Order: sequence, then C-alpha cells, then structure tokens
Amino acid sequence: MFLELEPVFNNEGAQIPFDYSLGWAADEIGAGLSLDNPARVTGKVYNAAGVVRLSAKAEAVVLALCDRCAADVRLPMSVPVNHVLVTSLNDEDNDELILLESMRFDLDAMVREDFILALPSKILCRNDCRGLCGVCGANLNETQCGCAAPADPRLEALKQFLKQ
Ligand SMILES: [Zn+2]
Ligand SMILES: [Zn+2]
Repeated sequence: MFLELEPVFNNEGAQIPFDYSLGWAADEIGAGLSLDNPARVTGKVYNAAGVVRLSAKAEAVVLALCDRCAADVRLPMSVPVNHVLVTSLNDEDNDELILLESMRFDLDAMVREDFILALPSKILCRNDCRGLCGVCGANLNETQCGCAAPADPRLEALKQFLKQ
C-alpha cells in the first residue's frame, strides 16, 4: 500500500488510518520462513503539532523449522512499526526517523523491513529443544538413541592429568 503523505504534512491534525492484509513471498522473509496467512497491518499516519508519525502494528504467524531439530514451529509475531517521518534530516542520528524520498510512501516496504528485523535470530520449537543426535540423527526430544556423546577433549585431557 502506498500512502500519499502530502496532505498529512500540510495539515496539522490530519491522519490516514489503515487496516489491511499484507502478504509476501517466502523468500522475502528469509530462508525457510513463511507466513500462515497475510500479515494484518493496522495503524495510522498522523500529523501532531507539525510532526508526522507512523504508528502501526503488523501481526502474523511465522511458519519455520526449529533450528535444532527441524520440527515445524508456529511463531506468532506482533511487531510495532513506529517512526517519525521527515523530509529533511538535521544531524540527528535516530533510528526512529525515516527520511522520505517521496511524498508517495511505500508502507509495505517499511512494514516488511521492521517485521524482518523483529524476527528472532534463532527459532526453536521450545527453549530446551534437545536437537538431533550428531551420530545417528535421531530426534532427542522423542527418543534416547543410546549413542555415546562425543568425548570432550578438555575432559579427556583432565582425566589423563589426574591419572598421573
Ligand atoms: Zn526443536
Ligand atoms: Zn544417536
């Protein structure tokens, strides 16, 4: 969705509310990730005392695979999309500030960017996921395969030392 911001910039108190569905291709989110439904985007752009703000929220369920055991994971996300929109910068280094290139604002791109930044770097089916056995590949959440854990070289060295 594109928003025409000129009337908002020119009129204190003006606002553009929105509530829409935003779908996007899996490769736009990240490798192995997809949405179970389009994201719901709600919020508004408004001019309060001459400052134009974007205040929105994007909600979606991300479908992913557990980083340790590859099980399916459903990850509900609710991502705030809050920025101050400006047409020129005055030396302020502020993540919240978005410098507009045009009065025709690409809201979808902004929402996608914030949504992707909000994704956790590691996605697990549960915090204590035990992952897969490095020897036989069994899912250790479901079974005890009985493979010996690979020896820790530091512990081996300590055992040798204690024997002496
Ligand atoms: Zn897992
Ligand atoms: Zn095993």
